[in-house]
Order: sequence, then C-alpha cells, then structure tokens
Amino acid sequence: MTWAVHARSRCRLCGSDDVAEFLSLGDAPFTDDFVAPSSAGREFTAPLSVWVCRACWTAQTQHDVEVGEYYRDYNYSVAASPFAQTFMRRLAQETMARYGLGPGATVLEIGSGDGAQLAHFQALGAHVLGFEPSADLCAASRARGVPVNQRLFDARTAAEIGNDMLPADAIVLTYTFDHLPDPLPFLEAVRGVLHPERGVLVIEVHDLERIMQRRETCLFEHEHSVYLTRRSFRRLLERAGFELLTTELLPDHERRGNSLLVVAAVEGHRHAADAPEDGPANLERWETYAGFAEEVRRSHDALRRYIRDARAAGRRIAGYGAGGRGVMTLAGAGLGPGDVAYLCDRSPHAHGLLAPGSHVPICGPDRLAQDPVDELIVFSYGYLDEIREQLASELAASPRLTSVLDLLSPGSPMGTP
Ligand SMILES: [Zn+2]
Repeated sequence: MTWAVHARSRCRLCGSDDVAEFLSLGDAPFTDDFVAPSSAGREFTAPLSVWVCRACWTAQTQHDVEVGEYYRDYNYSVAASPFAQTFMRRLAQETMARYGLGPGATVLEIGSGDGAQLAHFQALGAHVLGFEPSADLCAASRARGVPVNQRLFDARTAAEIGNDMLPADAIVLTYTFDHLPDPLPFLEAVRGVLHPERGVLVIEVHDLERIMQRRETCLFEHEHSVYLTRRSFRRLLERAGFELLTTELLPDHERRGNSLLVVAAVEGHRHAADAPEDGPANLERWETYAGFAEEVRRSHDALRRYIRDARAAGRRIAGYGAGGRGVMTLAGAGLGPGDVAYLCDRSPHAHGLLAPGSHVPICGPDRLAQDPVDELIVFSYGYLDEIREQLASELAASPRLTSVLDLLSPGSPMGTP
C-alpha cells in the first residue's frame, strides 16, 4: 500500500485560519487495515489529531490521507443485525410518510453499500439509485435488485444521473457524510439534483456532543474529516443553501449509538420545520475543547488500569467487535495481546489477522468455547443485548460482558447508550 498525508491549514468549511488543535492521539492506524501476523508493524500509521475551527466551531482533522491503491478488498457489513434492519426500515418509512413521498418517489443514496437501506425504500414503492465505490458491495446491491453506480458522488456524477431519477425526492447518507474531505461543494452538488420544493436530504453522522460526553475517542479516525454537532451542522447546511428541518426523524432508541440524524431541505422548500433544539452552547467555547485532552487521557488510563488489574488478579479478558470502535480503542489506549487475548467478531473478513496498531488477534466467537476467558469487553456496545443472547445460546458458560463505554466514562450519566 502506498500513501501520502496532506496537511491543511484552514477550516474545511468556512476557510478560516483560526483552527486550533485540541486532541492529539499519537500514531493511529486505519480502522480496517487488518494485518497478517508476518507483517505486524508494517501497517499504515500516522499522527492523528483533532482540531476545531474557532470561527464556525466545527471540529475536524487538518489532514487528508491519500491511499495509492484501494486496498480494502473486504467489506464489513452489519446489515444482518436485527437492530440495524429495523433502523433502516424505520428510516425509510418515516422519511416517506413525514415528507409526503409516495410510490414513484425517487430516492438516491450516496455510500449505498450493499443496498440494504435502499431496498427498504424500494419496498415502499420508491424508485431508487445508489452510489458506491466498492465493486464487491455494488455486486451485492445488484444481486438484491437495487441499482447502483460504482462511483463516488460529486457535481460531475450528478450531471450524469438519468432524467427519470431527477429531481430527487430524497437523498440519503448514513455514516458517509463525515468521510467527505470537502463537505461544502458536496452539499452544493446535492442541492443541484434535489427537488427544490419537496426534496429532503437525510444525513446521519456521529454526534460530536456524545463523542465528547462518552469519551468515545475511538470515533476520531483518519477516515473522518468532520465531527458535527446540531449547531455546527445547522450552520453548515445554511451555508450550502439548505434549512435544517429536524434532528428527530427517529427517536433515540431506534438509532445506532452516537447517531446525529438530520433532515434538511433546499431554502424555499414547502415542508414544515420543527424548530430543532440547538444543543448546548459549551461546544462553542474553547475552554470545553482545551480541557478535553486531559479527560481522554484519564479515560484511557482507567481502561488500561481496569484490564491490567484484572490480568494481575489472574483473570483473562477478550474483546468483542472488530469494527472501528474495537480497533481504535485498543490502539488509542496502548493495549496489546498481553492485555486482551483476542478480539472476536462474527464477520469472518479479518479472522486470522491482527488488529492494526494493537496487534490483538481477530477470530470468530467460536474461540470463546475452545479458549475461554473470564470477561468480554464489548466494543460494539450498541449490539450488547444481541451479543449476550447469541452467546448464551452458543456457549455452555458465557463470560461476563462489559460495555467499553462503562470503562471509558465511569460514573458518567451518559455511560450507557
Ligand atoms: Zn470554520
């Protein structure tokens, strides 16, 4: 793999040069760059720090990583999870019902993956089209009857969409928007293809407010360019000619951990906005950011201490969930295979490989039967109940399950999703 890191010196959104670093996480890997044991130590790592623009109060990275060849030849999908399926079905239902879209409505999804979300819109009678750069995921999407263009979405791509799909009634992005290096031109391209009166833009990103409350710094990664709050998102949308309609399309318990789900429409639209709450103002004060690095250091110390005290007392610990949360928490807290024996994941894509950064081995949950542990730290905490049920049905004796959030933010009222 060849790569280059390009530094920025201005805000990605407003262009201000008053951008200040508030958290430095040291050398960090890519979240999904699993390594063969023989190549451990040769995976990509680069300094990862997070900045905030003091003009528009948008948290962001100030670097872009350019990867020479597209090395991600496997694709992790949680689409099989009942919770994720319900979320996608409800997102389609509420978007269609609330904004008056019926059969024949046109729905685009950018970063459409294996087409699972668009299939739910299709089931409600919508005409759908996805945009997805991964060849494997496009093949999976077409196999289920969801049409997809294998490419990224930008102003040029937008000009090539067939007239039968334009103007679009809804454009959907779930956990894709915060990967865009330049969100503003992207939003302008979207505005050009969205129906000016009835069109809605539905975007789900990680909520910086919750990341900071829960010390969930594993969500700071090279792949994420911006970290939005209700306030900074509204400001960004207005800058691009949109109005924020709601942040309450789905109730909290139906959304995935850490979700900020916004619906917006082009200025001059004909929908009713529900005047969403703006969130706390303390994320627009430098003091909040200035004190955060120390809180993160303490939370990583607490996690390490918890695990090492258990090890010293003769207890074995493994992890569950080899997604970004597991990989980045282990790497960020400086943990290794001497601390966490292995990291299980139901998806086989990384079995036999090591987590980048920490070099903890990845395996299937079947290892828990052959090589038992006393405690399992669940990194994919949003699926804790499902994991508990599955393990109870598969294992004679389940280890104790602990959500990583409870270890990172002990005593915090936001400690459990
Ligand atoms: Zn700015």
